[in-house]
Amino acid sequence: MAKASLSVNEVRDMMLAAADQIIASEPILTDADRALGDGDHGVGMERGMTAVKEALAGKDFPSAGKVFVGVGTAMMSSMGGASGAIFGILFRSGGKAVGDATEFTAAHLATLLREGTDQVMTKGAKPGDKTMVDALDPAARKAGEVAGLPIDEALVAVAAAAAAGREASKDMIATMGRAKTLGENSLGKPDAGAVSVAIILAAMSDFVAGL
Ligand code: ADP
Ligand code: MG
Repeated sequence: MAKASLSVNEVRDMMLAAADQIIASEPILTDADRALGDGDHGVGMERGMTAVKEALAGKDFPSAGKVFVGVGTAMMSSMGGASGAIFGILFRSGGKAVGDATEFTAAHLATLLREGTDQVMTKGAKPGDKTMVDALDPAARKAGEVAGLPIDEALVAVAAAAAAGREASKDMIATMGRAKTLGENSLGKPDAGAVSVAIILAAMSDFVAGL
């Protein structure tokens, strides 16, 4: 049966499931960043998501927004590197925009991703630069389109949009970050941060599908 919205505890447990999936995906993320960057993205994400688990597990949060702020704060303060700061901005600013909601709907998901992605883009990356923005922005756009759907159905569509964005990043030439120096040699491989975004959204969708 379609699930209209998530309780705060379900949001927390969804993000714990996403953390577990990223930790399990460390080798994939390491390989992706080794191909185009310096190879530290997998270990950084594993460290960040271990901190997320410590911050979230067994805790009660007053609102869905505060869960996401907690995710961002844990990632920002534990990871270092470009992606620690970027994921921190994504989840902290997105979570603040979600605000005091105690039921998390597809409309809140759209707010989270749109505001979070817009704040990430203030740091310089735009769509097409071969960064995690190339998974985030399509996910945010799709979330806007499906904001009226039940949360489980919206997450399926949004996770698919992020996966399509990750695939599209293979055909982009990096213009930001460490991969910039590779120029056309960055073609054919996905951006590591876009791979992470697709894994997080797929894990969120899978968790909610199992509720
Ligand atoms: P570092 O680049 O410091 O080694 P990571 O390897 O953890 O950090 O993360 C690299 C990822 O960070 C890239 O694949 C890209 O998706 C993302 N990234 C880097 N700079 C930006 C930026 N300005 N905006 C959005 N994403 C970025
Ligand atoms: Mg790196």
